[in-house]
Amino acid sequence: MKVLKFGGTSLGSPENIKKVIAIVAKKSQNDQLIIVVSAFSGVTNQLQECSRLAEKGDENYKAQLDELINRHLEAVQDLLGAKAQSGLMAKVRLVLNEIEDILKGVFLIQELSNKTLDKVIGSGEVLSAFIVNEFFLQEGMKSNLINPLEFILTDSEFGKANVDMALTEEKIKPYFQNQKADVLVCPGFVSKDLYGNSTTLGRGGSDYTAALIAAALDAPELEIWTDVSGMMTANPKYVKQAFAIPQIDYEEAMELTHFGAKVLYPPSVHPVYKKGIPIYIKNTFEPDAEGTKIHEFPEPDSQSIKGISCIENIALFNLSGSSMVGIPYFSHRLFEALAQAKVSVILITQASSEHSICVAIDLEDVEKAKFAIEKAFSLEFKEEMLNPLYVETDLAIVALVSSQMKNQIGLSGKMFSVLGQNGINIKAIAQGSSEKNISAVIDKKQVKKALNTLHESFFLSDLKRVNLFIVGTGNVGQTLIDQLNQQSEYLKEHNQIDLRISGIANSRKMLFDLNGIPLENAVETLMEKGQKMDLEDFLLEMKALNLRNSIFIDNTAHEVVANTYAGVLESSISVVTPNKIACTGKFGDYKNLKNLALRYRSHFRFETNVGAGLPVINTLDDLIKSGDEVLGIQAVLSGSLNFIFNNYTGEGESFADVVKQAQVEGFTEPDPRIDLSGVDVKRKILILLRESGFEMELDDIDTIPFIPEKCMQAENVEKFFEAIAKEEAHFKKLVEEANAEGKKLKYVATFENGKANTGLEKVAPDSPLYNLEGKDNIVLFNTKRYPEQPLVIKGAGAGAAVTASGIFGDIIRIANAL
Ligand code: ADP
Ligand code: ASP
Ligand code: MG
Repeated sequence: MKVLKFGGTSLGSPENIKKVIAIVAKKSQNDQLIIVVSAFSGVTNQLQECSRLAEKGDENYKAQLDELINRHLEAVQDLLGAKAQSGLMAKVRLVLNEIEDILKGVFLIQELSNKTLDKVIGSGEVLSAFIVNEFFLQEGMKSNLINPLEFILTDSEFGKANVDMALTEEKIKPYFQNQKADVLVCPGFVSKDLYGNSTTLGRGGSDYTAALIAAALDAPELEIWTDVSGMMTANPKYVKQAFAIPQIDYEEAMELTHFGAKVLYPPSVHPVYKKGIPIYIKNTFEPDAEGTKIHEFPEPDSQSIKGISCIENIALFNLSGSSMVGIPYFSHRLFEALAQAKVSVILITQASSEHSICVAIDLEDVEKAKFAIEKAFSLEFKEEMLNPLYVETDLAIVALVSSQMKNQIGLSGKMFSVLGQNGINIKAIAQGSSEKNISAVIDKKQVKKALNTLHESFFLSDLKRVNLFIVGTGNVGQTLIDQLNQQSEYLKEHNQIDLRISGIANSRKMLFDLNGIPLENAVETLMEKGQKMDLEDFLLEMKALNLRNSIFIDNTAHEVVANTYAGVLESSISVVTPNKIACTGKFGDYKNLKNLALRYRSHFRFETNVGAGLPVINTLDDLIKSGDEVLGIQAVLSGSLNFIFNNYTGEGESFADVVKQAQVEGFTEPDPRIDLSGVDVKRKILILLRESGFEMELDDIDTIPFIPEKCMQAENVEKFFEAIAKEEAHFKKLVEEANAEGKKLKYVATFENGKANTGLEKVAPDSPLYNLEGKDNIVLFNTKRYPEQPLVIKGAGAGAAVTASGIFGDIIRIANAL
């Protein structure tokens, strides 16, 4: 004899019921089967909802009830031929009429007791069992309907009755001895108290019905058929990469179900555990999948934990007071008060100082619990021996489960550090002394992120997924995407990093895709499938997705985008950007971004702000962190100005023409005055100085202009070119003077004796700045450790390829630290 339970998810529609029959037909060839059924999916909720509406005097209960009635009648019509239909219709109608009558009564007197509610919500199972049994008969099976009210006996705790184990076991054996049919269909969930009233076993309780029968009959196994292929490493609704656990021991299964793995009703494990009966969790829609076997001695596997579960809708009560230690039987009184109020405590933590105690309970019980605690300690509250009760709602619990926890060091460390790194704030922690779980109370909004983060680091730690949100798909943005595309396989294979573009936007469109926007044609996909860009919406969506390991990449030069970094970092999303605006505004704002990154465990990286892909800022960062001090800096930091002065000899092309060429070739900003004024260089040296630890503002840096003021004042770029063309003599003179001294003109940023300036300088041949080709940049750091010979960083300092690779470098550095 075997016991199989089919859940509501397996009985959602006539098509699904046909799948059930295929499984049952196959199995019934060898064994007598007891088939425990739940109500059709969603029916128990609907019955509950109808009852609540009727209780409130809301007429809408009728419409809902009609819908439910029709669903059952349609199922009868769909599944059964005309002959079978008429007999069954009468039985089904009888049950439905009874529900209708009860609810009418509830509606009229606007009162709903738990006893009545149990009667109503239990009917879902009765109806489904009628229909399933009749279908089995029609399909030629020898099937019989059995009545659990004759053997599942409980107390009168309506809503979640407690089973009288001894009596139930005693009744089950003889009841089944007399059942000779091949297939016995039994409604789950419903039971009876000792006075003959209908009770229910608690939501999800059909599993329990099946377990009680299997245990009492010493069945060789219990099969729970549902809509997932086993007990999974995490709730598959939240964690796409969750996978079925092949084998798990009873206690681990109990922990997982207690902490929210809904696939099995927690009390169901105990009766079969006592008898050593294995439980198989199987998928009705994939009957060949192996599923999960819950039994005493699972084969060892390589995973450090078995699963991660979560309970949402939690509230945390914190009871504290300096004199709590002195309150007699404090904990005893607290738990007694909660127990009397029928509030079940899910998690407890107590500081060893005994000055505070924290209990997590179901959100639904908040009012009851508050009332009970305030009553139990009314005197202590009045005399201020206790602080006012602190209640926090909208929380959730996430828990790691394994019976091997006590043999492993560092699990909790890893759990809390990965949660912390992803900005998930932990409100309370508990680890049972049995060391079968570690649980943490967190904000409910963070559940999905927490589960995915933990799942990834405990089960998929070989491959770390990093979610990129890219804004700006111009030259640099597109080049970055090309580089990501080229390297993505390499990074997966060699560095276990899986980089994905989860969101992308340019000035016109924005697009999100959690499976990753294809790297080979990300911008085309964006333009094809994206919706209208709105920066605010983009950020809202990115934050709402709340994905772990998220990086926001700003490839624009816009201030509006730079102004959003604080909010992004606060959401524990890292920022990478070549945009200099955020780092060159007020010192306080720059510092604030750095602090936010620290506080929210996000990263703020902007290597490409100075020298494009050259490792300037990272090198400086290493020097400072390791205790070095910057004494002086000399640098040529403008690729554009370098290009201009390398090409302008004073003899051939005019200065205006060289600038024009630089502009056309994309070495300058569209308005070349931004480069020629030296503002850009000023910003770069400012960033280096701030990164060196100096509290400086842009205005603290002196600039000696070399372009006549009236040219700079030109109305537009065209007029500017006309104006500098008229000043050729001025530029020629500058070059000739330098040539006369055997020197070259370079636009240099200098920091010396605490003062910084930028300007055009004549550089002698013995200077490292003299031989600087094309768009190259050079930075010389004089530090305490490099006092005479400076540390020199030199190379291409502009261009899309090197800038993109600098951004890429920042992304990888963050990915490695996540
Ligand atoms: P049934 O109607 O078959 O009793 P339930 O809805 O009660 O089904 O339970 C199955 C559901 O449990 C799955 O669809 C899944 O969403 C949820 N679930 C939550 N945590 C887990 C987990 N760790 N493993 C498997 N399923 C889980
Ligand atoms: N139908 C009941 C519920 O939804 C019992 C069950 O499905 O196990 O809670
Ligand atoms: Mg269930």
